[in-house]
Amino acid sequence: MVQTLLLSWELARWRAAGRRARLWWRDDDARAPGPALERLLAHALAFDAPLTLAVIPDSDRADLAKRLASVRGVRVVQHGADHVDRSAGGGAFEFPPEHTAEQIAAALREGWTRLAPLPGALKLFTPPWNAIHPRLTDALASERYVGWSAWAQVAPKATPPRVDTHLDLLRWNPTPRFRGAGRLASQLRRQLARRRKAGTWDAPIGLLTHHLDHDEAAWRWLAGLMRTVRHHPVLTWSDLADLLPEARRAT
Ligand SMILES: [Zn+2]
Repeated sequence: MVQTLLLSWELARWRAAGRRARLWWRDDDARAPGPALERLLAHALAFDAPLTLAVIPDSDRADLAKRLASVRGVRVVQHGADHVDRSAGGGAFEFPPEHTAEQIAAALREGWTRLAPLPGALKLFTPPWNAIHPRLTDALASERYVGWSAWAQVAPKATPPRVDTHLDLLRWNPTPRFRGAGRLASQLRRQLARRRKAGTWDAPIGLLTHHLDHDEAAWRWLAGLMRTVRHHPVLTWSDLADLLPEARRAT
């Protein structure tokens, strides 16, 4: 309750300043159609929220392509090369430290070949577990990705441009579950306050979801957020593609 109250105070400050906050939405780990994906798409469509699906290209994605053919306003971006954890424990990553930019580029290219035919495909990369290999941006630049997305940075200077997520709908340990309304309100308030104080009003705030791991409480909160944003004076949805030119100018 306290967190919700503090959040409404912060939103009131934005409103008094005549500013609107730009939310964007990324959902990770899609591979194929299924009941959870249907539920996710239903949320996006019912509330006209621009959804970015971060899809794992570890195999042919023809079934997903077929499903998305009749859906409007969904972006497809690349989530990893094969989403296989090659760490020996202590932080997950796909690309071992000794991998060169060329090796990473080759893996990225193979993945992108599978995703490029999907409706709404946007050549943007999201590293699994937000693991950023030191050579990743070199590989992304040489493969001409239009951008990439990881975790927590507010207005990062990066080439290619980077647009991050900041609010994770789930907690992960020991098993995935809803993070909690109070915690999410508190995190959203902090993200808003940080931008207000820095004057970076337009820096987007990314919501991160994982449709395959949502419990009922997570779905309920997501629907509540959608309902709230639809007519909100401050909170608005942005399409990832519209955020990229600005992210590019920041570099
Ligand atoms: Zn993932």
